[in-house]
Amino acid sequence: MTQANLYALLESRFPTGAAPLLETEDGMIVTYAEMRSLAAHIAAALRAHGARPGDRVAAQVDKSPAALALYLACLRGGFVYLPLNTAYQPAEIAYFLGDATPSVFVCRPESVEPLKPHAATAGVKTVLTLDAAGQGSLRDSAATATPDDTVHVSAAEDLALIIYTSGTTGRSKGAMLTHGSLAANGLALTGAWGFTRDDVLLHELPLFHVHGLFISTHCVLLSGARMLFHRKFDAALVLRSLPRCTVMMGVPTFYTRLLAEPGFDRAAAASIRLFVSGSAPLLMETFREFETRIGQAILERYGMSEAGVITTNPLVGARKGGTVGQALTGMQVRVADGEDRALPTGETGGVQIRGTSVFKGYWNMPEKTREEFTPDGWFRTGDVGVFDAEGYLSIVGRAKDLIITGGYNVYPKEIELELDTWPGVVESAVIGVPHPDFGEAVTAVVVAAAGAQLDEAAMIASLRGRLANYKVPKRVHVVTELPRNAMGKVQKNVLRDKFGG
Ligand code: AMP
Repeated sequence: MTQANLYALLESRFPTGAAPLLETEDGMIVTYAEMRSLAAHIAAALRAHGARPGDRVAAQVDKSPAALALYLACLRGGFVYLPLNTAYQPAEIAYFLGDATPSVFVCRPESVEPLKPHAATAGVKTVLTLDAAGQGSLRDSAATATPDDTVHVSAAEDLALIIYTSGTTGRSKGAMLTHGSLAANGLALTGAWGFTRDDVLLHELPLFHVHGLFISTHCVLLSGARMLFHRKFDAALVLRSLPRCTVMMGVPTFYTRLLAEPGFDRAAAASIRLFVSGSAPLLMETFREFETRIGQAILERYGMSEAGVITTNPLVGARKGGTVGQALTGMQVRVADGEDRALPTGETGGVQIRGTSVFKGYWNMPEKTREEFTPDGWFRTGDVGVFDAEGYLSIVGRAKDLIITGGYNVYPKEIELELDTWPGVVESAVIGVPHPDFGEAVTAVVVAAAGAQLDEAAMIASLRGRLANYKVPKRVHVVTELPRNAMGKVQKNVLRDKFGG
């Protein structure tokens, strides 16, 4: 039977000899050979602590080369890796452990005391530690464990990873990704973005989210390339590092912060062949300013925990700002109406996807899984989008952020784009807040540029001339910044709580 273990595929692409895989900001270099050995030893240590193929291994650890090795070790050992956001508090961790019932939980040394009781309640056999320097009891066990072969995975649909969605409403859901889905997405991306052994990726993303954990790293691992592997985004460090890199991947916030650096110019970015943005919408203004200043168009792509990357602007050909490009190889994308019927080009509706990289379903939630798939096998992403004549998709927003006011549908993005053109507005977020008469009222929250005075009444009056009356915000609140999560997504639920009263 063929080996479907994703780790076997990755390893088959590793360069031989002393080829470097990554370098940290402290100048520590980890070669492919060292990573392979560390992953083998960690897999053996996990097995020695009672993990069996198919068992979940949960981790709430800081980013480090060893944390990447832990992910690879789980693939290698046939364990299902469960990465957890480092910001999660004990009560949240308790939910994930209880839901996923891992056999091993790896956490930061300082978290052992607060988290051990929760691990015990969830029936976790072993709690191990891994610190920011990559040391701890996991590493100690790995040092003495005897590696076995990569576990044989017979079916591409065997689970590799459970990634809990950030879930702003209801319970967080564990998206089950398989060895086959991850392999398909990784191979498609490596091709679409033209990765070769000569590439050096600037990696500044967290490892607990799909973007940093595998969308970026699989491109490197599958092409035998290298990366500068930094703990977190730091604009000054990026500026110093860019000349040694060829590709940068980031969330939109990375690019707005870089543009705020006076030293970020064409010369600074000269060695970069590709800037990729995803995980949250890239503002048109950022796209334009970047192109003017740097002379390169950021390649925007669209993805989600449930499927990896879904659409991408092209490597060669027109990258259109405000769009997320076309379907990635192996992925089918349609925009559908409320009855799951495909809509014609130019009409706005629910984005639905099908294909090799789409997840298997939500862990422990067969009902929810059934609800989110159409009878003919399309996954309803929950995003609202529209295709243009050339097959480029634009994401208009999340379906749950759609505002229904007096019976009319309002897509926040349309109003945000108008607000963003107002002098002195840096960015905006439009939300629906409860209204006794209309059900919901359109409300805007805008960020003012330093020193700018924004006149609420004047803004509302100006919008009246440009938008249908029901779309015009009843209020415009001015703030200094929008609440964002670790991936740069604006947290509209936080705004609704704050301004909904
Ligand atoms: P996550 O599962 O945390 O990666 O979140 C996935 C969601 O992020 C998608 O369903 C979209 O709502 C949003 N998203 C990702 N990439 C983009 C993008 N390029 N433009 C707009 N929204 C995006």
